[in-house]
Order: sequence, then C-alpha cells, then structure tokens
Amino acid sequence: MKEILLLKDGEIVLKGLNRRTFEDVLKKNIKIALRGLGAFEIKSAQSTIVVRPLSEDCDLDEACERVGMVFGLVSYSRAAVCDEKTLESVLETAPKYLERVLKKAKTFKVEAKRSDKQFPYKSPEICRETGGAILGSFPHLTVDVHNPDVTVYVEIRDFGAYIHADPIRGAGGIPVGTGGKAAVLISGGIDSPVAAYMMAKRGLQLTAIHFASPPYTSPRAEEKVVRLLERVARYSGPIKMITVPFTRIQEKLRDDCPEELFTIIMRRLMMQLSERIAADNGCTALITGESLGQVASQTIGALNCTDEAADMVVFRPLIGMDKQEIIDISYKIDTYDISIEPYEDCCTVFTPKHPKTKPVLKYVKEAQEKAGFEPLTEEALANLRVTWIS
Ligand code: ATP
Ligand code: MG
Repeated sequence: MKEILLLKDGEIVLKGLNRRTFEDVLKKNIKIALRGLGAFEIKSAQSTIVVRPLSEDCDLDEACERVGMVFGLVSYSRAAVCDEKTLESVLETAPKYLERVLKKAKTFKVEAKRSDKQFPYKSPEICRETGGAILGSFPHLTVDVHNPDVTVYVEIRDFGAYIHADPIRGAGGIPVGTGGKAAVLISGGIDSPVAAYMMAKRGLQLTAIHFASPPYTSPRAEEKVVRLLERVARYSGPIKMITVPFTRIQEKLRDDCPEELFTIIMRRLMMQLSERIAADNGCTALITGESLGQVASQTIGALNCTDEAADMVVFRPLIGMDKQEIIDISYKIDTYDISIEPYEDCCTVFTPKHPKTKPVLKYVKEAQEKAGFEPLTEEALANLRVTWIS
C-alpha cells in the first residue's frame, strides 16, 4: 500500500501575508531533514504539507522520526493513499490500513475532511459509510464520538484520498530561519544546549560560539560540545560552530584581576567577544543558558554586569526555569547523557573561592580596564576556528 506523510502547519497559519515565505522555509527545512532517506516530493496545500516518497526504497519510518523534529509543525500523520479517489476505495483501504490499531481499540469514530468539493459524497456520508465498513471488519468495536480510543481520518483532497489514524504531535514552534540569526554561547553543560534548542524553536538560525582554554580544557571537552551540537542540529538544522582560543585571556585574568571578580570579568569578556563574532556572522542576538540564581554569576547583580558588556539583545530562555525543568528538556532532546560527561569547561578553570554575588559594575569595569585585555582579545579573534555541524 502506498503511504505519504501529511504535516500540519503550526503558528505559521497566523502569519498572514508572510505565510508564503514561512511555508517556503518550512518546506526547505523538511527537505534538509529528509536528506539521505530517498527522493521525496514536498508540496503544500490548505495548511498541510504533503510529503510523498518518489521511490520504493524511501525510509518512511526514519522520515517520520525526522519530521517530528522540524519546528513549525503542530502534528503529522503517516497516511495510506487510496488507489482511487472513490468511496469504494476508501471503504476498502480504511479497515485494511488501520488493522493493527483497530484490533487493539475498543471504541472509534470517523472524521472526514472533504476539501475536494467535487467528491460526490458529503462528509457525514463518508463518515457513516467508513464507520460501517470498519464495524463490518472489526465487530468487537463500538462507535464513541466523544472519547474514542482511535479516530479514523478520511481526507479527500484535490490530489487524492487518504486514510490515517490520530496524528502525532509535532515539534511545534516556528520554522528555523524565519526569525533571523543568533549566536549561542555553548559550553559542555546541561543548560546551553537546551537554550539553543529553545531559541531555534522560536525560528532562529543558530551559530555556536565555544570558548576553549587548552591545556586547561582538553580536546575531549571540545569534542563533547560538537556531539551536543549534533543533537541540537537535529532540530535546528546545520550549525556553524566557532571555537575561541581563550587560554591567554584566562591566564591574564588570573594574573591581573582581583580573584573575587574572575568569573564576572570572564563572563563580560565572553559577551564582548561573542558580540563581535556574532555580528561578523550576520547574527543580531546572543543566546546563553543562564538561569536566575543558579550560580554566583547568575544573580541579578552579576547579570547586570554581564549584560552591560554587550549591546546586542541577549536571549536567556532558561532564566525563569529551575534545574529539573531544564533537565527534563535535555532528556527530551537527548543531550543530557552527553552533558553530564565529566570534562572541564573553561568556566571551571581558575574559579575563585568566594566569587562576588553582588558585584558593583563600576569596580568590575575598572578592574577589567586596568588589566587591559585589548591585545589578547584581538589575538583571540584572529585565531577563531570553524567546525560545521550537521
Ligand atoms: P551550562 O550548563 O550551559 O554550562 P552553567 O549553568 O554551567 O551553564 P555557567 O558555566 O555560568 O553556567 O555559564 C553560563 C552560560 O555561559 C552558559 O549557559 C553558556 O551560555 C555560557 N558559557 C559558559 N561556558 C562557556 C564556554 N566555554 N563557551 C561558550 N559559552 C559558555
Ligand atoms: Mg557551564
């Protein structure tokens, strides 16, 4: 039996005149997500995107898995294509295609969508007839229109008749790329990959910036970040990762700044460097994984000092979440296991024993200026490394 995927647009339905642009980006993202699984035709009609395999060897199981990670879709269904667009073909296909789910169910109902108004039967007739055919094949079932175990959908569209059961919930959000570009500051921790995922979900295309301090941080730590980004990229699409050599800057911090301000000045330097790298890469916002009160550098006072370092808007999607809520998302996107691998991050190099939780911006800036990071930040910017993540 021939099958297709029917994907339902989400929030793009609300975008009015921009809808075409949104839909084009969404289709492009679906195409990228299906790469390597065979040839598919992807076309849209009536807030549905139809994905049709063009050959026998297309991997539809994996295709379902992948479209489930594309932002911009509220739901998706794997559906049977009826041989002909006739009521007879519908009545024959429905019980056969849904045999497995219907056998397990006790109750069901049928819903018909008839967007092809030329079809000679109206929706209530299609429902009644299909329900009858299903009851004929599965006499153990009863109809329950309010709370059925299974809803059978019959869709009569311009280009064919389709049968499917309850749709699967999609990834939601807005298609990646329709909201502009942002640079996420990515560590190997639990939080920043989750932050990256959350902002990609709001339509942002991601560039990733990672600060590495070899030999204090190991190549394994950076390789861990690559693996984390590969997981995020399943949702966000390809990511350009930029590694910033941070060793000499951190050594200078240790040598020339007051110990209790190490972390806060380091955070400011990260923001300043990231802002420049972001701008050079066409990004107009920064993303971090900060969560209010989680550590000394994430108090209101510390965040005021960090925020002042960059003019670009900074998205902190985790700011109001507690650790367990963040961990729940990291499980969902499959980054948790990698995040908890024990490699040093540059943030844990030279950490002060008693970091200031209420730093005063004036003194922080004075200490930073007195140390004079300029030549070293320029040197770091001249030695960036790029890795493409897909
Ligand atoms: P995470 O779990 O993301 O590491 P965290 O709770 O450990 O976050 P910090 O280490 O204080 O918090 O870092 C706060 C944020 O700063 C991170 O979420 C991330 O956005 C950024 N950050 C930290 N370390 C790095 C790094 N080595 N490279 C790039 N960004 C970093
Ligand atoms: Mg960290």
